[in-house]
Amino acid sequence: MVAEKYDKLEPELKEELRSIAQQIVAPGKGILAADESTTTIGKRLKDINVENTEDNRRAYRQLLFTAAKDTISQHISGVILFHETLYQKAEDGTPFVELLKQRGILPGIKVDKGVVPLFGTDDECTTQGLDDLQARCIQYKKDGCQFAKWRCVLKIKKDCPSKLAILENANVLARYASICQSARIVPIVEPEILPDGDHDIVRCEQVTEEVLAAVYKALADHHVYLEGTLLKPNMVTPGQSSPNRASPQEIAAATVTALLRTVPPAVPGITFLSGGQSEEEASVNLDAINKFPANKPWALTFSYGRALQASVLRAWGGKKEQIAAGQEELIKRAKVTFRLGFSILDSSLFLYFIIFLLYVLRLLSISNNS
Ligand code: 13P
Repeated sequence: MVAEKYDKLEPELKEELRSIAQQIVAPGKGILAADESTTTIGKRLKDINVENTEDNRRAYRQLLFTAAKDTISQHISGVILFHETLYQKAEDGTPFVELLKQRGILPGIKVDKGVVPLFGTDDECTTQGLDDLQARCIQYKKDGCQFAKWRCVLKIKKDCPSKLAILENANVLARYASICQSARIVPIVEPEILPDGDHDIVRCEQVTEEVLAAVYKALADHHVYLEGTLLKPNMVTPGQSSPNRASPQEIAAATVTALLRTVPPAVPGITFLSGGQSEEEASVNLDAINKFPANKPWALTFSYGRALQASVLRAWGGKKEQIAAGQEELIKRAKVTFRLGFSILDSSLFLYFIIFLLYVLRLLSISNNS
């Protein structure tokens, strides 16, 4: 016999979580993932010959968060921060969280503590950070964070991902999501299937479906309130070293098919990671996904790190006099995704206008005839 469902989320809490998730995936908006750990941002800074010091990291994030107020808030609904960044301030003393709030942007926080090996597997991993998660989430909520991110990593190889890796990562994501919701924070669930390998798009689709099915089974088992969550998946693509490339339309078809087969319609939005795609590829693929002709019950948008920041970093190059150039690039990237996202709305509005026009013409001809 199935035990009675234990449902501890109060209606007010559900409403709060639902409303935060809806705000993040409002039409035409997406997330800027600026939550690179100190080591990861160090790699990005090294590429432009900038030293990985706390003040350089602060200066770079200040560039991102002070880019043209009105334009940025039209395109970016949330920013994911790293712990250090959450407590940093702009040069004039304004806390970064305050800068984001002034722009109507929701602050979010990366709460996982990185990947660790799964012993006895072929270099597979799980993600750590559950032990003190509840206390950290309660504090982060007090400090202004409305949503969180936890990234799990799965690999495609001959016998991978293994059953163990799929189940372990699904369970840890569900436990994280449940803890976040208890602290009034919307969890972004990120089971990233790495693009490394020479597999084809069919294999990627099959693995994505298997992983997402396990994730949603675990979320259900942990009584996670789906309306107050977001999913951050990889797009379905061939492996990076596969000789067979796929068109944006093929990527869109495989991605939407995998999502339709596994992600419940109760989930309000899917915010893709860019996973090493170029800025251009990430925008074009997201556009193709949105245009793919299917009944897609969730908002489909971006939560890009590299695909929103690569040209910003290059244009800035660590130089004070090039801050404006870096900000220009960020605005350009955010706008492209915005325009692409809205082209669907534009075309359906146009269709409604034509139908309306035909209707008026018909009425006119009826009244002329009578
Ligand atoms: P990328 O878009 O660079 O993949 O980063 C997004 C992210 O947050 C990965 O965890």
